[in-house]
Amino acid sequence: MTELRTLKVALLGCGNVGAQVARILIEDADTLAARAGAKLQLSGIAVRNVHAKRDVDLPQDLFTTDADTLVKDADLVIELMGGIEPARTLILSALRNGACVVTGNKALVAQDGPTLHEEADKAGVQLSYEAAVAGAIPILRPIRDSLAGDRITRVLGIVNGTTNFILDQMDTTGAQFADALAEAQRLGYAEADPTADVEGHDAAAKAAILASLSFHTRFALENVHCEGITSVTAADIAAAKDAGFVIKLLAIAEKLHVADTETGGGEGVSVRVHPTLLPREHPLAAVHGAFNAVFIEAENAGELMFYGQGAGGTPTASAVLGDLVSAARSLVLGGPGRTETTTGQVAALPIDAAVTSYYIGLDVADQPGVLARIAQLFAEHGVSIEIMRQTIHRDAESNVESAELRIVTHRASEAALAATVEAVKGLDVINSVTSVLRVEGV
Ligand code: NAP
Repeated sequence: MTELRTLKVALLGCGNVGAQVARILIEDADTLAARAGAKLQLSGIAVRNVHAKRDVDLPQDLFTTDADTLVKDADLVIELMGGIEPARTLILSALRNGACVVTGNKALVAQDGPTLHEEADKAGVQLSYEAAVAGAIPILRPIRDSLAGDRITRVLGIVNGTTNFILDQMDTTGAQFADALAEAQRLGYAEADPTADVEGHDAAAKAAILASLSFHTRFALENVHCEGITSVTAADIAAAKDAGFVIKLLAIAEKLHVADTETGGGEGVSVRVHPTLLPREHPLAAVHGAFNAVFIEAENAGELMFYGQGAGGTPTASAVLGDLVSAARSLVLGGPGRTETTTGQVAALPIDAAVTSYYIGLDVADQPGVLARIAQLFAEHGVSIEIMRQTIHRDAESNVESAELRIVTHRASEAALAATVEAVKGLDVINSVTSVLRVEGV
C-alpha cells in the first residue's frame, strides 16, 4: 500500500467548536485519513491564552499565540476564532499562501465574502464555511452542489436557535418575551448580551449567505431587511395560536418577478429576517426548542427540508470536519475546481417590494357596518382579505363593547399593505391596530 501524504492543519481558536474539532482530529485521525486520502496532522492551535483551561485535554505543545507563523506553514487552515479581525487578515494570508480555508465565521463571510472568495479563486484553493449557517445541518453544500442543476425559488430558514427557543417557550407556556429570554439565558441558549440573536443580526448574516448561494449573486448584509423578535408579545403569540398559526423568526430569500413588485423592471431577490406567522401544519412550525431548519423550494426538486442542531461544539465540529475532508480531497486530487458561481447577478429588492401575506389585529368599535368599511378600504388598496374573524369584548366597568378583528390577507406587496394600514388607522371606528405581522406558507 502506498504511504498517504501528510497535510498540515492549522487550527485558529480552541473554544466551544475549536476544542471539539481538535479532539476529533486527534481521536479519529485514521478514519479521517482514509476519507480524505491524506493524513490530517494538527500542526498547531492558535489561541489568546495558551494556559487557559480547555473543555478537552489536548497536548500543550500544540498551543501558540503566534497565529501568523502557524498559518504560513499550513496546507489547511481552520478559522474558529470568530469576529472580523484578526480572523480576516489570517484567512487572507492563508489563502495567499495556497492553503484551503474552512471557517464557521458567518459575520465575516456575510461582511467580506467577495474579498475572501476573490482571494481563494486567485490562489485556486477552497474556501468553505458549512458551519457558518445552521451549525451541524448540511445546507450550504446541498444548495451549492446538489441543487446546482435546479433553480431555487425560495428559502425559508429557522437559522437562530436562541430566538427559536424563546418563541417556542412563549408559544408553549404563554410567557412574555422577557421571561422566555431569561429562561434561555438560564439554560445557556442565550448569551448575557443577547442583542445579536434577538435583534436578528445573526440570522441576517446567515440570510445573506443563503441568498448568495441560492441565487448565484453576492448579497451583502446591507441587502438584508432585518427585524428581531423583541417586540413580539405574548398577546401576538396567543392571537396567532388562536388563528392556527405559530410565530417564527425566519430568514427568507425569495425570487420575485416584476409582475409581483412595484419596482418595475426585471426580477429580483427579497432577502429579509422578521417574525413570521406560519400555519401550524407547515413543516417549519414543528421545529421546536433551539433546533434549526431550512425549507427550500426549487423549480424541479419541489420542496426540501433540512433539520438539525444549529449550534453546539460537537455538532458544529461535524460541519467543520466535513469541509476539511472535502478540502483535503481537493488538494490530494490537485485542485478545487469551481466551487461557487456568482453569474446570476439578480437585484436585491428593497423591503417595500417584498410580497407576502399579512396578519393584522384591530381593536374596533362594535358598530353596524364596520366590517364592510374595513373590507372596502382593503379592496381600494388592492389588498385582498383571505380570513376575517371578529370577537366581541365587553368592558366590565364601562359596559362598552368593542370588537377584536383579526385579518389574514392574500399575498400583497409591503408597500400596498403599509398604505392600507395607514388608511385603516384613519377610520373613526378603529381604536387601535394591535399587530401587523407577515405570514408565510398559506
Ligand atoms: P469561542 O468559544 O469564543 O472560542 C474562540 C476561540 O478563539 C478561543 O479559543 C480564543 O482563544 C480564540 N481567539 C479569539 N480571538 C483570538 C485572537 N485574537 N487570537 C488568537 N485566538 C483568538 O467561539 P466558538 O463558539 O467556538 O465559535 C467559533 C466560530 O464558530 C465563530 O465564528 C462562531 O460564529 C462560529 N460558530 C459557532 C457555533 C457554536 O455553536 N458555538 C456554531 C456555528 C458557528 P482563548 O481560548 O485563548 O480565549
